[in-house]
Amino acid sequence: MGTAIDEDDDPFEEQRERAKNPMRRLFTEYGRENVPAATIGIFSSVIARILDLLPPVLLGVAVDSIFKQRGSGGSEFDLAVLPASAIPETEVGQLYLVVGLIAVAFFGGAGFHFTRNWGWNSFAQHIQHEVRTDTYDKMQRLNMDFFADKQTGELMSILSNDVNRLERFLNDGMNSALRLGVMVIGIAAILIYLNWQLAMITLLIVPLLGIFTYAFIQRIQPKYKQVRSSVGQVNSRLENNLGGIQVIKTSSTESYESERVEDVSQDYFDANWDAISTRIRFYPGLRVLAGVGFVLTFLIGGLWVLGAPLGPISGTLSPGEFVTFILLGQRFIWPMAQFGSIINMYQRAYASAARIFGLMDEPSRISETPAAESLSVSDGRVSYEEVSFGYDADEQILEDVTFDVAGGETLALVGPTGAGKSTVLKLLLRMYDVEEGRITIDGEDIRDITIQSLRRHVGYVSQDTFLFYGTVAQNLTYGAFESDHEEMVAAAKAAEAHEFIMNLPEGYDTEVGERGVKLSGGQRQRISIARAILKDPEILILDEATSDVDTETEMLIQRSLDELTRDRTTFAIAHRLSTIKDAEQIAVLEAGKIVEQGTHGELIGADGLYAHLWGVQAGEIDELPQEFIDRASQRQARVEATDDD
Ligand code: ADP
Repeated sequence: MGTAIDEDDDPFEEQRERAKNPMRRLFTEYGRENVPAATIGIFSSVIARILDLLPPVLLGVAVDSIFKQRGSGGSEFDLAVLPASAIPETEVGQLYLVVGLIAVAFFGGAGFHFTRNWGWNSFAQHIQHEVRTDTYDKMQRLNMDFFADKQTGELMSILSNDVNRLERFLNDGMNSALRLGVMVIGIAAILIYLNWQLAMITLLIVPLLGIFTYAFIQRIQPKYKQVRSSVGQVNSRLENNLGGIQVIKTSSTESYESERVEDVSQDYFDANWDAISTRIRFYPGLRVLAGVGFVLTFLIGGLWVLGAPLGPISGTLSPGEFVTFILLGQRFIWPMAQFGSIINMYQRAYASAARIFGLMDEPSRISETPAAESLSVSDGRVSYEEVSFGYDADEQILEDVTFDVAGGETLALVGPTGAGKSTVLKLLLRMYDVEEGRITIDGEDIRDITIQSLRRHVGYVSQDTFLFYGTVAQNLTYGAFESDHEEMVAAAKAAEAHEFIMNLPEGYDTEVGERGVKLSGGQRQRISIARAILKDPEILILDEATSDVDTETEMLIQRSLDELTRDRTTFAIAHRLSTIKDAEQIAVLEAGKIVEQGTHGELIGADGLYAHLWGVQAGEIDELPQEFIDRASQRQARVEATDDD
């Protein structure tokens, strides 16, 4: 749903804590290459802001010189930055000069504002792009156990929300911070230069504005968090209800669901209103504070211009300085109003950077030794030697699994759900590493082989193949990008997929995936088989899911699988035992241990678990003996308990 991760409830807390000095890393690792853009941004920012301050100062100088020449106070036309010789003698000439300088300030300001925006945006966009692509690259190389306990939405949130927050801070946040700095320092310097006593009074409100906005942010933040959480609840409720619309209709619970939606929507309304009522008091409050400063400056400055003392606070001020004070005094209110949000943006960017760098530093459970060599398969013999493994240290999933599959032969793994069949094969692909024992291919420990070359030689076919958004052709050649059209069609034919593909609206160019044509499980499996044919691996893993396909499709799939597995070392996870009865070896797995092993004939003869399963599936016996059912339900309960974790 793309909701932002709140710091309190952060699935990436571990990563966040691991990252040291994330902001410094952001600037040193990514900032460096973008220094030119940042320099242009900073330089243009400073100049543009200084030019912004120029008109009020020039106006003051002009006013003073008019008053002087009218004989009513004021002072000589004097611009500290221009030599006296450059200032025209006549009033009209001076007017031209002032108007000319103001025009330059405006046009120059416009130009520098443009380069400022260009510089900052370019800086922020480049860093955003580089951080996102690096994070994605790193993320997809992480081990499967990292993905196992994270949800897709949470991972998406790092790649989108966190990266965007960095961009926002680098652009808006730094820009505002710089503007705040230049405005406050610039205005303070000018005012102090003109009249330091009055400047003290005008500047008095700067810290007050700072404290006020900071306090405001502290108050509004928890309220915004509440809003985000309640909008998340509304979305989940809606998503859940629309997904389950059929159940709602068939159980006729529309009113009940409407009430539930009303409840969460009311919570959202309340949270939002709470935040709004705090927020709409902020700007009037800011105006009141600024107004106090303005009134004080106006009163005291005005009295000084008129020469009337105000108790012990007395001083002198020219009319022009008075004008400059009034005009500039208003200028730092808005930059100061952003003070709180700059701090807020920084804090959020810090948390985002910590998550991102924490993720980049994620240690790898599977590592490649520097001496790892590329795999070259000669015979294709695969051996498991007393392999033990657990996903967590405290729970062993596989125990002493041993078997030896000669090149070109097939080993079928059968057994109840949760027995560890998939786990056995994940170890062969090195999704995880064995804890004890070893797995070898042609005698070589797979830990001494580069992961990439290992996975190139091991194909994986599953019924539940994920289709990427794109055409059928793109999905077929996925991972075998160099194959040409003829090879692709030949593979599709061998996989019995050609015919149904030709029946799709645009044949091989039909868009599939989430937004395209939906393919059935059987069709997806045949695409997966065609992919494996194109990849042409020496070792093959067939993961048969339990979902049903009709008998005709099953026959087609079986025919294409026979073709595919003929000369390859094959591991097959099968639920329908009829599909594997010709395998050279069948291993029956129960609770992580191989309890029976042999050919179909041998196992039937042994009259154990396999023989009973076969009997049930072939319809020869009605049900399994009670002890198997009891064991199965215990196991099922265990699997469900672990899945709930
Ligand atoms: P099968 O393929 O025989 O159904 P699996 O190999 O999928 O069995 O699972 C074996 C056991 O390992 C089950 O208890 C399951 O809950 C557990 N398991 C599977 N995958 C993970 C994982 N990523 N993290 C922790 N436990 C897992």
